[in-house]
Amino acid sequence: MLVNLNDILKKAQKEKYAVGLFNTTDTDMLQAAIAAAEELSSPIIIGTAEVLLPYGELELIAPALIAAAKRASVPVVVHYDHGLTYARCVEALQRGFTSVMFDGSVKPYAQNIAETKEIVKLAHAMGATVEGEIGHVGEAATGDNVLTDMYTTAEEARAYAEDTGVDALAVAIGSAHGVYKKKPMLNIGRLKEIRESVRVPLVLHGGSGLSDEDFAKSIAGGIAKVNVFTDLCLAGEKAMKEGTEKNLGYLETRNRKVDAIREAVRTKIRLFGSAGKA
Ligand SMILES: [Zn+2]
Repeated sequence: MLVNLNDILKKAQKEKYAVGLFNTTDTDMLQAAIAAAEELSSPIIIGTAEVLLPYGELELIAPALIAAAKRASVPVVVHYDHGLTYARCVEALQRGFTSVMFDGSVKPYAQNIAETKEIVKLAHAMGATVEGEIGHVGEAATGDNVLTDMYTTAEEARAYAEDTGVDALAVAIGSAHGVYKKKPMLNIGRLKEIRESVRVPLVLHGGSGLSDEDFAKSIAGGIAKVNVFTDLCLAGEKAMKEGTEKNLGYLETRNRKVDAIREAVRTKIRLFGSAGKA
C-alpha cells in the first residue's frame, strides 16, 4: 500500500528501529526491493534521486514505483531523494510521489529555509511528506566526511525543523555518500544531542559501507530512516560480472542480479530492525 513518511516513521521512532530508503532506478531494482520487504513483512521506502534521473527518467520510473507501492502487501513510501530544485520536487509530487526530500543544504541558510517552507506547504496540501537536510552529508570519494565542522549541531537542527515544518530531518554526523575510502567516524554523541532537540524522525544518509555496529548505535541514538543505494549497486554489479564470466546470457544474468539485490535489501532490513513491522 502507498503511504507517506509519517505513516511509517513515527512508529519507527517510537519503537527504535529504522526503515530503509532503497533507491530503485529501474524495475529490476524495484522488483528486488519490494520482494525483500514483503518477504520480511517490513515497511519500505523506495524512490529515486535527482542525480539518478539520467539512469531512469522520472516520467518513466514514477508510474512503475507508484504501481509497485500500491500493489505491495506492505506499506511503501515513494520518495524523491535529494531534490535539488523546487521545480523537480513539484514534478515528483505531481507524478504521485508521497514524499520528497528537498536538499537546500548547499544554499544560504535563509534561502534553504524559505524554499523548504514552500515545498512543505505544497506537499502537505497534497498529503505528502517532506524531508529536509541541515549540515552537509559528506562525499566519501573526496574524503570530506571527517571534517567535523560539517556536523549538524543540535541548535541548527532544532531551528531548522521548527522554521520549516519538515516531517523528517537528515543530519550530518559523519556518514558520506558513495563508497568509503577510509573508515567513517560517526559522532553518536552529537546525534543524541540532536535527538533531544527535535521532535521529527532523523535520517542517516550514506548508509552503504557503515558497519553493523555503526547502524546499531545510530538507530539506538535516534535514527529512524537510513538511505542505502551504493550497496545495492555493488551487489547487482557482482552478480552481473559472475553471469558474464559464466556465459549465462542476458535473462539469467538479470535474474541473478535481482536475487543479489533482494538479498542485499533483506540484509539491511534485518539490520535496521524493521522486519515484522509492516
Ligand atoms: Zn543522501
